[in-house]
Order: sequence, then structure tokens, then C-alpha cells
Amino acid sequence: MNQQGGPGGDLTGARLLLKRIRTTMARNLPAQRRLDEVVRTIAGAMVAEVCSVYVLRAGEVLELFATEGLKAEAVHLTRLRVGEGLVGDIASHARPLALADAQHHPQFAYRPETGEELYQSLMGVPVLRSGRVLGVLVVQNKTRRHYTEEEVETLETVAMVVAELIAGGELVGREELSPVTGIGVLPERLEAQVLAPGLALGVAVLHQPDITLTQLVAEDPLREIDRLDDAFSSMKLALDELLTEHDGTGGEHREVLETYRMLADDRGWANRIIEAIETGLTAEAAVQKVQNDMRARMRDIQDPYLRERLSDLDDLNNRLLRYLLGIQELPEARDLPENAILVARNMGPAELLDYDRKRLKGVVLEEGTASSHVAIVARALDIPLLGHCTGLMTKVQAGDSLVLDGENEQIFLRPSEDILQAVAISMTALQARQVSYAANRDLPAVTKDGVAIQLMMNAGLLLDVPQLAATGASGIGLYRTEVTFMVAHSFPDVARQRDVYGRVLDGAEGKPVIFRTLDIGSDKVLPYWHRDAEENPAMGWRALRISLDRPAMLRQQLRAMIMAAGGKALHVMFPMVALVEEFDDAKEILDLELQRAEEKGGVLPESVRVGAMFEVPALFWQMEEVLDRVDFLSIGSNDLAQFVFAADRGNTQLQGRYDTLSPAFLRLIGAIIAAGKRRNKAVGLCGEMAGDPIDAMALLALGLRSFSMAPPAIGPLRAMIRSLDLGQLEAYVAALGTQRGQDMRSSLRAFARDHGVAL
Ligand code: PEP
Ligand code: MG
Repeated sequence: MNQQGGPGGDLTGARLLLKRIRTTMARNLPAQRRLDEVVRTIAGAMVAEVCSVYVLRAGEVLELFATEGLKAEAVHLTRLRVGEGLVGDIASHARPLALADAQHHPQFAYRPETGEELYQSLMGVPVLRSGRVLGVLVVQNKTRRHYTEEEVETLETVAMVVAELIAGGELVGREELSPVTGIGVLPERLEAQVLAPGLALGVAVLHQPDITLTQLVAEDPLREIDRLDDAFSSMKLALDELLTEHDGTGGEHREVLETYRMLADDRGWANRIIEAIETGLTAEAAVQKVQNDMRARMRDIQDPYLRERLSDLDDLNNRLLRYLLGIQELPEARDLPENAILVARNMGPAELLDYDRKRLKGVVLEEGTASSHVAIVARALDIPLLGHCTGLMTKVQAGDSLVLDGENEQIFLRPSEDILQAVAISMTALQARQVSYAANRDLPAVTKDGVAIQLMMNAGLLLDVPQLAATGASGIGLYRTEVTFMVAHSFPDVARQRDVYGRVLDGAEGKPVIFRTLDIGSDKVLPYWHRDAEENPAMGWRALRISLDRPAMLRQQLRAMIMAAGGKALHVMFPMVALVEEFDDAKEILDLELQRAEEKGGVLPESVRVGAMFEVPALFWQMEEVLDRVDFLSIGSNDLAQFVFAADRGNTQLQGRYDTLSPAFLRLIGAIIAAGKRRNKAVGLCGEMAGDPIDAMALLALGLRSFSMAPPAIGPLRAMIRSLDLGQLEAYVAALGTQRGQDMRSSLRAFARDHGVAL
């Protein structure tokens, strides 16, 4: 190979090496012998004194499986944990290393049985298959050799062939190999964030199943480039057709497709694939190699925008592979098992809706956040969804048994019998509680000492509305109208909005529905609406600020609400009011729309009540003026806490740092409730606090009587209220107030325990 110009470096050299390896692979030898031959061939071709293959085995251990150059007795004896030594480092980061002076690298781990001390330089690459690490391929030299980028590339290409050899199942059993990290049959626990609550037990179904390649090495690169060209053309044609289909409709699909289309034209991407073909790979293997490289390089990137782009590219790579292999069927078209748990890096809300709800027991995502659209849909459908599950895609494989434990923010892969039993018990208990909540849904939410509490629910999709009957909520205390806009493909016009609001009111069957006008901006993004990036979006151009700067949007929304509420009660609420003048301006638009409806002779709402959300602290110092104007106030404790503590509500690092039950926050809420009472104006609360039984106890003690929360929280809250003597609680909290340094949360828990309050 070095005769071809440079030690193992040039492309022709890489092709020759692949060709020789292919001859070895084709020989009818046991896999171990073929692997031995392969390492010998690589060592010779790359002018390295050592070439070794480590294979990942159960328990995340890398075992030396073949070597040319190290002591033969070390084979099957030397084992390194993932993360241990340079080889372990390559596996844990799934990225190559090329070191002229490996022995002085801080990660170097010396294994005397190998005789490694003789070799100074080391180049190693992960053996990847479908983005998963199966092992590590290493070459070593005695001298301080500086490996070139091309040499790393060559070794990566060869590693693809080694991957197929390992995946063949002869070297280590398939059951050990199956999951990415090779931990195979071993159970594993992964931490995750609960994006939609619940417990689920089922079988992993990959949202995008892995594509297995059978042909890796090609004889004729020109033919492969032709095949690639054809696949690119077909793919681009199909994307163009989709774009034409969606022409004029705008919206989410078009946006996504346009991005794909732009990426599909990226010459850099195509050139990298062609370069890989020129090293002797088939077109499909070249696509996969470029995808592997990209995934490995972008593995540690946290930036959400770049991660989204990576998802796009992943998807595009898979599309291209499907064209190359002639696979047309989309994964969603497959039959689902009875108890499917969907596993994906990320997915959109519509994709989730494509699956058969009856068979889908849960979803787990490697990425995803609580405010992502898929999470909103999952909550509406009551499908447990866990996200932010690092390493998921490299650890789970189709058919694995899986437990989603939303109560403890964890998932179990291939759970052991005792875990299954424990989960089964929890599920039975949860179901029993749910049955009892359902049975009690018509019981009044009245405390033991006779104080009636209003329990309303939060909603955002038409899908949520039936929960009114299912939970016995007395109305919708917060209808987040922006959700309709977020899941739509284009900006909904008046007719569409009127239809949605009308159906919500019909579904509510006379129970009140408080429609909140658009609260977009911050973390709520409309896919079809381009906006400039903001440094502090939560404090930026959002909610009522946008509605007032784009009054046509607000007019249309209010018009749709008025039309939908013809003959019925209309409740409108404005989000993020910071100044009374903003409320006045919004109210004026509403009054004009009502006047316009009257002039047009339409059926007017039977009554109109207008409220404001209390989310911005500045409102506190305009309390009297606000109360003069509104019919009701609703405390948005999520945003209010964010602004009171100056702590981003979406930042996981700050979660739990500032307690909503801390004196500062409770004093503020207490003062708002008291002011409302003095002026005889209704004050409710519709943030997350409302649905937490302990927080709700504190709020009850402060005088709050109206709560609006996610539907699953209503049953537990009703049970808490019905088992509570509010007079006793008020006295207890009043006494606590005089003692310094009290931890309100644990005190309330102790009260509940001592007084039989159901939590
Ligand atoms: C809140 O801020 O508490 C609230 C209910 O509004 P959202 O969560 O939709 O911002
Ligand atoms: Mg809010």
C-alpha cells in the first residue's frame, strides 16, 4: 500500500486495502481466522507494527479479539472497560484518536500482558454500525508517527467491514451484540425527564428502524457513483413533488421539506459520500459511513438548533439509503405490537398521531423537552412520554422489553424479573387510584369543614376537551389557544379558529371555558413564523406584546371567539399583561369586535367576561387599577415564579432551586388573593402549582378557591380537598408563619400525614 504513495494514506491505497480485506472475508474460514487475517492485512497495508481489534462485550467491556503485533497470549485476556484507557476512550466517545505520543496521554492504561510498552504512537477508530459502537480498531507504531487525516479515514472505512464481521454473530453471540453498546442481555437503568406522566411496560419499537447493509465493498466506484447519482435524483424529485404539493399552504411540512431540500443540495455532503465510494465502499456503505462520522462528530453538541439539523440530516441519510436499497415502505406503516413503546431520537407531534393509539403504551425520546409539541400531544392523549434520555439510541434495540417509570424519572431496558414485578405492583396501584378518581369525579370538591373549591382544567387541544367529563372538572380555566397554532401547518384563519373554539365550547357542554389569547414567543414557537433570534425570549417579544403589535392577529382571534360563542358565555383572558394600559388596549380591540359583530347582526355571546393573567410582577404595583378593570385574574405561577426569582423556567439546571413555597413567593400570591377578595374580584391560579397537592394546600391556606390544572391532577386534588379540614390547616399555617426558618413543604407534608390528608 505504501507503494501507492504514502503509508496507507491515499484513496487508491484505501481501495486496494479494502479489496484485499474483501478477499479475506470471502474465504470460507471461521470468523476468528478471518479477523486474524484482517488485522494482519491492515497492519501490513498501513505500515503499522500493531493492528488490533477490540470487541464490545456484555457489561460494557472491550475485549482484545485479534492482534497483529501485540503478544498473542493477550487475545481474549486483555479487557478494558468502556472509558478506560485510550481504547475505552475511543469507544465511549465514538470518535477516532490519533496520537504520536500515546504513552504519555493521560488516558493511557498499561496492560503488561500485551507488550504494548514498545509502541509510542496509536491511531484508533470506533467500529460503528448504525451509529452504535461494536468495538475499536487500533494500529500502533514504535516510532512517534503522526497519522494523517486520510489515514484516519482509511481506518474508519476498514472499520465498517470489521463491523459486519462482528455483527455476523459468530465472534460473539447475537444476543450479546444486539444492543449498541454490546451490553446485550443485561438490564440497564437510564435517567430521563418526565414529559408526560405515567407508567408503561412494553416492547421497544424504533420510530426509524435501522437499515442493515449487506454489500459494503464494491468493485467499480464509477458504477457506485452512478447509483448514488440516481438515488440523489430520485430523492430530490420526490422532495420537489412534495414541495409542489404543499405549495401555497406554507406551514410546518413545507418548512421541513425546504430544509431537507437545501441539505439535499449540499455539495459538501455529496462529495464526502463520493470520497467514501472512492475508497472502495458501495454507495450505501458510503452514505452510512458519512452518517456515522457525522453522528460521532456531533454527539456532544448540545445546541438545540444544531441538534435539530442533525436530525434532519439523519433523516435525509435514511431517505437516501432507502432509495439506494429500493425500500419504499415508511416505518409508520408497520404493524405495531400490542404494547408498543416508541423509541426515537426526537419526533414531531403529527408523527406521534400516526401511530395506533390503542397499541401505543409509551414513548421515550433521546431528546425532547416538556414544551416540545410531541410532549403536548402525548399529555393530551395521556401517553406516558419520557425525554432527555441520554444514550438511549445507542442502548436500545427493537424488541427490547422496556419499562417507563414516570414516577421516578427513569426507564429500564430489558428489566429483570424483580423490577417487572415492582412495576406491575405500581401499575396496579396507579390503576386502582385512577379508578377511584374516576369513580369520585362527580363528588363535590368540598373540604371536610364545608369549603367549596373550584377545580378546573387546563387544555390546549380539542383532544383535551373530553377530559372535562372524565375528570369532573367544573370548566376549562385555561385554554391555551396557541397550541392549535403550534401544531398547525400554517397560520389558522378566522374560519378555522372559529371552528376550533366552537367545538371546544360544544364539547364543554355549558361548562365555562376561559380562552387565553395567543401566548406565543418564548419557548412556544410557530414553525411557519420566522422571527429574529432574541437574547432573552422569555422576557422578549411574546404573548400580548405580539398581539398588540400585530393587532390584526388579535382582532381575528377575538372575532373567531365571538362568533364561536354566539348565544353562549365568552371568557377571554390576556396573557403576560405588564401594564394596565396593555389590558386597556386589548380590551378596546375586544369591545370594537363585539360592536362590529352587533352591527353585522350576528348572534352575540350571552355574556362576556374579560380577565388578565398575573404573570409579570410589575402588575402588583398596579393592583388597584387592574382590579378596577378586570372581571377576573388568573395567576400564572409558572411565569410569575420565573420573573420573581429571575430564574428561567425551562433551564433544567435551575429546577428546584427556588421553591414556590418560599416566603417571598407565598407572600406575593397571598397579597394578590387578598386584594382580589377586598375588591370582590375572582382570583384563580392556573400554573403548575395548582396541580401539586402540597402547593395547593399552601394556596388554600392563603385563601385561593379556584384552581386550574392538567387533567390528571384533578382526581388527586379532589381527594386531597375532601380529606382536609381547612380551618385546621389555616391555623397550622398561621402558626408556622411566626416561626423562622420553617420549611413549608415538609411542614405541610407532616400536617397531611398527621391529619390523614390524602396526598
Ligand atoms: C403560567 O405561566 O403559569 C401559565 C399558566 O402560562 P403558560 O404555562 O402557558 O406560560
Ligand atoms: Mg405563562
